[in-house]
Amino acid sequence: MRARDEHAAKHGPLRERLRVKPGSEVSLGHFDPSETYGREREPAELELAEGLVRLGELQDRLWAEARHAVLVILQGIDAAGKDGTIRHVMSAFNPMGCPVTSFKVPTDEERGHDYLWRVHRRTPAKGEIGIFNRSHYEDVLVVRVHELVPRETWSRRYDQINAWERTLVEEGTTIVKFFLAIDQDEQRQRLRDRVEDPTKRWKFRRADLDERALWDSYRRAFEDALGRCSTDWAPWYLVPSNRKWFRNLAVADILADVIDDLAPAYPPGEPGIEGLSIT
Ligand code: ADP
Repeated sequence: MRARDEHAAKHGPLRERLRVKPGSEVSLGHFDPSETYGREREPAELELAEGLVRLGELQDRLWAEARHAVLVILQGIDAAGKDGTIRHVMSAFNPMGCPVTSFKVPTDEERGHDYLWRVHRRTPAKGEIGIFNRSHYEDVLVVRVHELVPRETWSRRYDQINAWERTLVEEGTTIVKFFLAIDQDEQRQRLRDRVEDPTKRWKFRRADLDERALWDSYRRAFEDALGRCSTDWAPWYLVPSNRKWFRNLAVADILADVIDDLAPAYPPGEPGIEGLSIT
């Protein structure tokens, strides 16, 4: 039995374990971001290598078939590992079929539209796996924490987001949302590393410390986004991410299972070309 199947038999598939049940109250205070569900680093790294091969094969078929779009959303507090996840897990993919979009502070043009406009323009086409590094969830996270719009505006957005995501799903997009959870100690360590390591210093801004001071407000905003927007059609996965190897494994494993369910298949090719002799 492969390592992945052994663990699934003992602990249940990660997809089931980490999925936030629709309508549940999420309490991040009671969640352990160091959890690894019985896995250990070395075997997990082998398992990840196998998982990446599997993901690469699935993406090749998804791209060739061009029937389904897959939208992957990554959220998490600063230094939770959104960039690192993209670098590691998405290395399995042919970049041609895998557009990545990072959502920053909205530009003037973006601010001239509703908050879903800029994300809708970047949703993947059929055959693509589109990755969102941050997303429309910023509009119920940073926007809520900093009161950039009145409460009555952001509080309506949970239902709006659910309805919009449902539209995408009904029109052929599969949505997978990962919340990368780290704790305050892990964030402190990672921010310190950024300051100390000249190759990482460019990632650090003083404002990151102001955001860190708002930890509890962000926690509450994340809890509401996860609890209110994990739906049957677009579930959130709550990924313990203090250990990067587990985070990578979980994201790769869940994503592969989700794409596997779509059963992407190579198209047959033109009739009668199997025996064609090419001179
Ligand atoms: P990252 O941290 O993603 O690597 P940046 O350091 O440029 O990249 O951070 C992007 C910033 O943009 C974050 O502070 C994030 O909260 C902010 N941001 C993203 N979307 C919005 C939004 N809709 N409104 C306000 N700020 C936003």
